[in-house]
Amino acid sequence: MAKAPKLSLGVDLGGTKIAAGLCQEGEILKKVIFPTQAAAGFDSVISVILGAVERVLEGRDHKDILGLGIGSAGQVNAETGEVIYAPNLKWKNAPLGSTLAKALKLKVQVLNDVRAATVAEHKFGNGKGLENFANIFIGTGVGSGFVVNGQLLNGVTNSAGEIGHVCMDPEGPVCGCGNKGCLEAFASGTGMENYVKAQLKSGRKSVIKELAESKFENVRGPLIGKAADQGDELAIEAIARVGHYLGIAAANIHTMLNPDVILLGGGMMALKKYFMPTLLQTMKIHILPVADHGRELVRDAKFENDAVLLGGSAIFA
Ligand SMILES: [Zn+2]
Repeated sequence: MAKAPKLSLGVDLGGTKIAAGLCQEGEILKKVIFPTQAAAGFDSVISVILGAVERVLEGRDHKDILGLGIGSAGQVNAETGEVIYAPNLKWKNAPLGSTLAKALKLKVQVLNDVRAATVAEHKFGNGKGLENFANIFIGTGVGSGFVVNGQLLNGVTNSAGEIGHVCMDPEGPVCGCGNKGCLEAFASGTGMENYVKAQLKSGRKSVIKELAESKFENVRGPLIGKAADQGDELAIEAIARVGHYLGIAAANIHTMLNPDVILLGGGMMALKKYFMPTLLQTMKIHILPVADHGRELVRDAKFENDAVLLGGSAIFA
């Protein structure tokens, strides 16, 4: 008789969409995506998740499933499965794990989304076989996960890896967390957009203004990338500035933890040809020679959109 396949479920719970997948050791067999409808509240989001899970299970018996891993936006208590605080879901102390476990009669594990993506890279991606690495996700915000001595680092209050809120400049721009000068305020898509908008407001000439039809809300990452492709000075500078701050942060990680490598992923990677040279150059300036040693310092993450979902499933793979 053939060995029963090891099936597990992965869910990516974001502020705008929920992706659920039935997975087998790093492969997605079936995936669905639904709008989160966070404004409708916790119970409604739970219904969306349950509906998505039933769709990917296609009538399979729950006892054939090893468990469900869910990567959620926000701060998560991995032990209790509670989402402590998730601003884009408008949740505080939400009992996500226990509610799903009860409804599905499955083992459920909840992780922060970037930490889940780090598990995916560790088990099946470009961190496979590594004992020590960081995985930095650069999107509308900046997050990270760390694997230390082969284990995902959670920290005493499950907040290890909140690199987006490491202070780069105490007098810097205000961050979403309320503090000033966090890495995320400089090196995220949002930070880059805010910089471009401030420069345009101060009268700086740029093709971005025409491309955005003089509407500030149109000044988004892909449009800035388009301007850079046309040789626009402001666009190229704004993207390189992201690389500068990421380079300092990456050098600091190497100095503190001396990892095998740092993985880089997230939507901002679409612009990497404009920020990677500055990132590497800045890193070289700030890293200690002993941590550098001519090694490979950064590497692309393997998974793009499916990283969180795969990471969730990988907990039980
Ligand atoms: Zn912050």
